[in-house]
Amino acid sequence: MLPLNVIEDAAKNLSNYNGCGQSVMEMSHRSKEFQKIIDDAEANLRELMNIPENYKVMFLQGGGTLQFAMVPLNLLRNSKKADYIITGTWAKKAFKEAQKFGDIKAVASSEESTFSYIPKVKKEDFRPDADYVHITFNNTIYGTHYNYIPDTGDIPLVADMSSCILSEEIDVTKFGLIYAGAQKNVGPAGTTIVIMREDLIGFAQSNVPTYLYYRIHADNGSMYNTPPCFSIYIAGEVFKSILKNGGVAPLHKIDVEKAEKLYNYIDDSKLFRCPVAKEDRSLMNVVFVTGNPDLDKKFVADAKTVGLINLNGHRSIGGMRASIYNAMPMSGIDELIGFMKEFEKENA
Ligand SMILES: *Cc1c(COP(=O)(O)O)cnc(C)c1O
Repeated sequence: MLPLNVIEDAAKNLSNYNGCGQSVMEMSHRSKEFQKIIDDAEANLRELMNIPENYKVMFLQGGGTLQFAMVPLNLLRNSKKADYIITGTWAKKAFKEAQKFGDIKAVASSEESTFSYIPKVKKEDFRPDADYVHITFNNTIYGTHYNYIPDTGDIPLVADMSSCILSEEIDVTKFGLIYAGAQKNVGPAGTTIVIMREDLIGFAQSNVPTYLYYRIHADNGSMYNTPPCFSIYIAGEVFKSILKNGGVAPLHKIDVEKAEKLYNYIDDSKLFRCPVAKEDRSLMNVVFVTGNPDLDKKFVADAKTVGLINLNGHRSIGGMRASIYNAMPMSGIDELIGFMKEFEKENA
C-alpha cells in the first residue's frame, strides 16, 4: 500500500504538476522542477534516516535484483572474497549472483529449517579479509527480520532493506551500503534507493558496464542518464508524508502495534500458526498457515471475496502472507483478524 493522501495528491497533480503546465511524466529530468523533486526527495530521506554527510544517496533502476550484481562488481575490491548470510529466497539470489564475480562464502544459513529464523553470527564467523558481508535485513517471503545488526568489525556490512526501509530507526553508520527497491515500502516500482559510504565508492573494474558504476551515479546526482522520474517523485511524496507525521519513530511504533496484534491472534488461534521463531518475526510480512494446503487456498480465495487481497504466500512456498507495510492502517489489521476469526469458526 501507499498512503492514500499521496496517491490522491499525485492524481490531482497528474496532468499539471504544481501548476507548472506539465506532468512529472512529461518534464525533462534536467528541468528545474524535477531537480527540486529529486533534491527534496534526497534531503527528506536523509532527514528521515539520519544519513550522515559521508554517505551518498542514489536513486537507481534495476530493482533489488540489479544490486545483487552491482554490489559485488563494485565492492569486491581487494581479496575478491565476500561473506553472505542466507536467510531466504532473496538472500540466496544475491549470493548466487555474487558467485559470478568472486570467492563468495555462505557463512550461515537457516535453509535447513525453511528459513524460519535468523542465524546468530559473530565477528569470528567472517573471513577477516572479506571485502564485505551481505545480509537481507527483512526476508519478505519467509517473514523474518534481523533483531540485531551483525558485528562485522572493520568489514563493510551491506544490507538489502527492500522490504523494511523506513519501518524502523536504523543506525546507518553500522552499514557500508544499504539498498532497497522502492516498491515494497516507499513508492511505485521503478527506483532503487542506494545509501553508500563514500570511501567504498570507486572500486569497480574498468570492464564493468558504465551504468553499474556507483561512482557514475554518485558523481552525477543520480542523473548520469534519465532517472525513473515519476517513481522518484512519488517516493519523495511518501517521504514528505512520513516527515509530516513525525518521522520514522512514531511510524515504527504503529508498525509494532499492528504486527503484534496480528501475531497475538495467530498464536492464540487453533487453526492458524506462524512458522517463524518469535524473536525473528518481521513487522512487515506476517506469514501464517493452517497446515492444510487446500484450506490455505480456500482462505486466500474466500478472503478475496470480501476485499482482503494479496494474502497468498509467495508462489515458492504457498500458505498465507499479510504484507502490512507502513501505509497499511490498523483498520486493515482489524478487518483481517475479523475475517480470520470467522474462517476459523467455519473451518476448524
Ligand atoms: C522484492 C525483493 C527483492 C527484489 O526486488 P526487485 O525490485 O523485484 O528486483 C530483493 N530483495 C528483497 C528483500 C525483496 O523483498
